[in-house]
Amino acid sequence: MAAGLVAVVGVGLAVGGSGGGGPDLAATPATSSSAVDPRSDRQPPSLVRREARRPGARTELLGRSVEGRPIRLLRLGDPNERPRTLVFGCIHGTECAGIDITRRLRSDRSPTPLWVVENLNPDGLQRGLRVNGHGVDLNRNFPSEWRRSGQPFDPEYSGSRPLSESESRLAARLIRRLRPEVTVWFHQPQAVVRAFGESVGVARRYARRAGVPYATIRWPRGTAPNWQNQRLGIRSFVVELPAGALPAAAARRHARALLTL
Ligand SMILES: [Zn+2]
Repeated sequence: MAAGLVAVVGVGLAVGGSGGGGPDLAATPATSSSAVDPRSDRQPPSLVRREARRPGARTELLGRSVEGRPIRLLRLGDPNERPRTLVFGCIHGTECAGIDITRRLRSDRSPTPLWVVENLNPDGLQRGLRVNGHGVDLNRNFPSEWRRSGQPFDPEYSGSRPLSESESRLAARLIRRLRPEVTVWFHQPQAVVRAFGESVGVARRYARRAGVPYATIRWPRGTAPNWQNQRLGIRSFVVELPAGALPAAAARRHARALLTL
């Protein structure tokens, strides 16, 4: 985890920058204690504070998980250029190696603009659960081919209705607002980039650049990529990382692939 972290060397806050950053991204000083909530993950606060912010980086509190943990959007890169890509580092709480990649992106000095939600399921990560704090699989809770299935805390419990959870609602709201050209969702442990329909081309390109296998696989019911592709016409695919911690070289390759997508 610490490999991607460097000391803060300078913070240029772009407040009210013109153009493509999307609306109302509030600037947050990197040194402000209010910028960091120790509940946001399992890192000690001292380590969290040491994480680099790129010049121009801005964070926005999107909302809170069902157990009250903050979920934030990070806007990286050139503040005058509109990002094409939105990245979710973790949605299943036991599949969060993608956070190593999003942390690497934070300290990368590339001007390529990106939107990043490091962790959409902080309760699951904290509790060692795939599902959220209500026992819902957030990636079966989106309103496209949704079907009720399972019971709370089953691995693929759909929730009582589409978007029943604050985390999935918050993600859906964000995606409608930003309208990214491409969305990338990190999971584990299948070690494959998977996509379907209109998203196949961009996913293949990603897999090639990251040096990982690719497979065309239909989206399961109620998943975020299903909803984005079928209902919104937004390309969206899944990167399944291998089990366990991600080696630094692999994290670097994935970060590069995101920055050149
Ligand atoms: Zn998953």
